Amino acid sequence: MARELTDDAGPGDNQPTAPQRIGVFGGTFDPPHIGHFATAVNVAAELDLDQMLLVVANSPWQKLGTRPITPAEDRYAMVAAGAALFELVEASRIELDRGGETYSADTLEELRELHPTAELFLVVGSDAADGLDTWKRPDVVRELATIVVVDRAGREGGVPPQGWNYVKVDTPRLEVSSSDLRRRAEVGDPLDVLIPAAVIDVIRGRSLYRRHD
Ligand code: ATP
Repeated sequence: MARELTDDAGPGDNQPTAPQRIGVFGGTFDPPHIGHFATAVNVAAELDLDQMLLVVANSPWQKLGTRPITPAEDRYAMVAAGAALFELVEASRIELDRGGETYSADTLEELRELHPTAELFLVVGSDAADGLDTWKRPDVVRELATIVVVDRAGREGGVPPQGWNYVKVDTPRLEVSSSDLRRRAEVGDPLDVLIPAAVIDVIRGRSLYRRHD
């Protein structure tokens, strides 16, 4: 009975509280790898986030026409399998459910509506930071989120253009890229360690990144 008294102290006591500091890390994630997950985990810890969303791009405008992109649902399944391994990290299908081309401004607006009181932190790699002004509706992005710049191995130093507020977070620089991993998968080189085993299971289960000849 004593247990009941303490555990059932009153209505609402066990309700999850709404996340107030939300990280938004968008990408194609084709495939997701340790560079992505290590970044997510370390930014979440460094900025004391309540949640770090890995937002899977439905149709990444920056990459369209440059190469075939793995179907969004397959990329989401890989990200979800990886995210499940790490506390606070979550796969988000907000851009898949919206459909169409993917723009961070739209995503931030949608997150702002879903979480009106939360602070949003948009993570961008140093390779992308200096191009923020070229994104669709950059003013919306600037207004709704604090930009978090993380250095990517070999592409260090990029920062947002003048007028953007940002914080820099030092993360482990892991020289891994999705392009290299796709190449490895195609020629049958090992993906182990570079991609979490749970994600490799999804790749195998869905026969992704196989050479078609
Ligand atoms: P590709 O090699 O196919 O161009 P990518 O890894 O550059 O892929 P995304 O999957 O879209 O592209 O990356 C999502 C985000 O993750 C981007 O902001 C990118 O800068 C960042 N990122 C990618 N690889 C790393 C890494 N090794 N370390 C830290 N950040 C990374």
